[in-house]
Amino acid sequence: AEAFNANVAAAKALNAFIVETPDHVLAAADKADSDRAAGTLKPLSGVPIGMKDLFCTQGVQTTAASHMLEGFQPTYESAVSQKLWDAGAGMLGKLNLDQFAMGSSNETSYFGNVISPWRRGGGDNAPLAPGGSSGGSSAAVSARLCPAATGTDTGGSIRQPAAFTGISGIKPTYGRCSRWGIIAFASSLDQAGPMARTVRDCAIMLENMAGFDARDATSLDLPVPQWEAGLSGDLNGKRVGIPKEYRVEGLDADVARVWDDGIAWLKDAGAEIVEVSLPHSKYALPAYYIIAPAEASSNLARYDGVRYGLRELPDGANLQEMYAATRAAGFGPEVKRRIIIGTYVLSAGFYDAYYTQAQKVRALIARDFAQAFERCDVILAPTAPSAAFALGDKTADPLSMYLNDVFAVPASLAGLPGMSVPGGLSKDGLPLGLQIIGPAFDEQAVLNAGLALE
Ligand code: GLN
Repeated sequence: AEAFNANVAAAKALNAFIVETPDHVLAAADKADSDRAAGTLKPLSGVPIGMKDLFCTQGVQTTAASHMLEGFQPTYESAVSQKLWDAGAGMLGKLNLDQFAMGSSNETSYFGNVISPWRRGGGDNAPLAPGGSSGGSSAAVSARLCPAATGTDTGGSIRQPAAFTGISGIKPTYGRCSRWGIIAFASSLDQAGPMARTVRDCAIMLENMAGFDARDATSLDLPVPQWEAGLSGDLNGKRVGIPKEYRVEGLDADVARVWDDGIAWLKDAGAEIVEVSLPHSKYALPAYYIIAPAEASSNLARYDGVRYGLRELPDGANLQEMYAATRAAGFGPEVKRRIIIGTYVLSAGFYDAYYTQAQKVRALIARDFAQAFERCDVILAPTAPSAAFALGDKTADPLSMYLNDVFAVPASLAGLPGMSVPGGLSKDGLPLGLQIIGPAFDEQAVLNAGLALE
């Protein structure tokens, strides 16, 4: 535990942590010692993990990487973090992220960008983005500051940063992990999951994060399977679907090559490869960038300068002016952009044209997947259309940033489990991820295919 704390302190240049909590880890290590002596070790006894700063942690600053919540100390613990502490884990600190989890590169954080340990910059090389929104999580795990971290995935925020940094991460079926105590972005999409170096570690973490919680109205009332015990890389008798619509024209050559490698490895593991069709995938990105901002605009209305965090009260300001001043100062530009898009697509006169239409597209995407899974057990696709890009590359053009989510958002809209595992390297030597998507509730099939690719 002391060595992990020292490494975290020594890795400040990556900016992966917003807050460090060395005492939490040391207490978990002490508890692990006494539990070992008493023969009552737990599944994660003494394991030091990083906690994305979107999970409320009692008495420990929780910010969503926003100035709006700077200094906010929740009086309660999120359901997922509580489960991890109950399983014996300790917290190294709160991990940086895109502000309110909105972004794909961790560059919207109020606390500064995170640097990918894959290329820290120097000489002619600009530092690389660690992906986002769980960029602190991906950087910390990939730099081996912690063996595992929590992430959240609304439209790819576990899978894409995992792909960018050469680690694994799984977003389970929507509803597996309680959303209670996770700062809300888009509630119909938000889902927690683990990021770790191996598929097995992801399975162990997920078992200790998932489970029914009556405080979350969309929590799945299902037992948590023993995913680790069920792991098997033998895919004999399994079918793997390759969605033909994902072979877009102009697909990056390295991404296509790694995808082909993945197909070959799954064949070697015994799987039969079948072509499947997801015809509405091409509408997933626009639908996501309507639905997610719409829900965000509603969720973020609570940051009014009264109930939580920041309050800006200019001299003589009335209530409306206090709201305006607080939001102007508290939210970053990307958050404001999403709120404006969200209120627009929900406004009278535009609601049917945008929001209702996007919901119809969402239903069609879910139906595409349901039909595809009549023909296969899991789907294999790239996680992202490119390897990690340099910091600053896409910040001037929000649309180019959104486009990076193109392969991630369909599974999000359909609420399906999706995992990214390392697939290989680009010609520049940067990691590329392979994405496995499974039917609802079948994380086991996803993890097993991931294991076969490892
Ligand atoms: N990159 C996507 C977005 O900016 C997804 C973020 C997420 O999954 N939290 O909305």
